[in-house]
Amino acid sequence: MEEDKFRALRESMVAQQIEKRGLRNPRLLAAFRKVPRHAFVPAALQYRAYDDGPLPIGKGQTISQPYIVALMTSLLALEGHERVLEIGTGSGYQAAILAEMAQEVHTIERHAPLAERAAGTLARLGYTQVHVHCADGTLGWPQAAPYEGILITAAAATAPKPLLEQLAEGGRLVVPVGDWMGQVLQVWTRENGRYDFESIIPVSFVPLRGKYGFSDEDWARYEEDE
Ligand code: SAH
Repeated sequence: MEEDKFRALRESMVAQQIEKRGLRNPRLLAAFRKVPRHAFVPAALQYRAYDDGPLPIGKGQTISQPYIVALMTSLLALEGHERVLEIGTGSGYQAAILAEMAQEVHTIERHAPLAERAAGTLARLGYTQVHVHCADGTLGWPQAAPYEGILITAAAATAPKPLLEQLAEGGRLVVPVGDWMGQVLQVWTRENGRYDFESIIPVSFVPLRGKYGFSDEDWARYEEDE
């Protein structure tokens, strides 16, 4: 497909899926108009890159629905000067959106092939302010902490403690909390050393693994019970 065909699909995605559903921040909309989502999905699925849903990206993982990426980004209330941490790089699409909205992005992916592919895509598109790390994201990335914004793009049983600790004063952390049945999007704030959270909407994510995530048994046990 031609680049201008993708651009038209992208414009319509922004208007129909994001703006119409109430997200109107001009900087947010500009970021979604700019980032070529089709560059982040497998070649055979590019024609569906701007569809109103998630898509598989390999290793049993998915790139989230555009609206959910937009909603989670908007909940961080970024102004442009922030250092941000993302857990669950996946395709790298969310990291590119964050790079458009903040100063510096660190993103962590546990699957090496996904981390490598995402780093390649981001470099090709010129996102030098995004740093992709292959590691257990539930431990955070203390080398660059604290972060004014932290985004977890996989389902957690609770907001991982190391990540709350790496949140800057006045910062926000967004995380889907729940289990295999579904999760609710939580927004955590840290004000004067006190943590508080608000629940936003029900969502459905692949599990967060790692030290402070779900073990394979925890998540798989339920699937076997069906
Ligand atoms: N934000 C991604 C989609 C995330 S899918 C995008 O824009 O495409 C969730 C990702 O989290 C998967 O790639 C999965 O491998 C990763 N993940 C799960 N647990 C993790 C952990 N403990 N550390 C780092 N990455 C993790």
